[in-house]
Amino acid sequence: MAGEPQPDCLFCKIVSGDIPATVVHETETTVAFRDINPQAPTHVLVIPKAHYPDAQTLAVAEPQIAADVLNEAGRVAAQDTIDGTGYRIVFNTGSGAGQTVFHAHAHVLGGRGLNWPPG
Ligand code: AMP
Ligand code: ZN
Repeated sequence: MAGEPQPDCLFCKIVSGDIPATVVHETETTVAFRDINPQAPTHVLVIPKAHYPDAQTLAVAEPQIAADVLNEAGRVAAQDTIDGTGYRIVFNTGSGAGQTVFHAHAHVLGGRGLNWPPG
């Protein structure tokens, strides 16, 4: 069924606690944790607890949870005090754009200057 945990999904295993993560905030519908290979002083991933392969499928199936993910991204930025200097929320979508984990996630990046356009 849509949204159900997938046995081979890394982020579903973080949601279930089978794989440890440095969780910075959790809600009924989302988990936010530090990226294992940070690309900036703040690099947090915000994921829905439900499994959807990318941001678009999440937004179509569960628009409120997609909104929760965005809301949490802003909350995490404020928690790490990067909201004043600015931060970036990225949803890599598709392998050609660098998506490697096919469970929807927002990258929250900040704490250093960020180039535009991104590479
Ligand atoms: P993406 O390439 O957009 O799919 O992002 C996947 C992200 O997950 C990458 O930035 C990885 O560094 C990160 N990542 C992979 N495994 C873990 C893990 N066990 N804990 C935290 N972050 C992870
Ligand atoms: Zn998953």
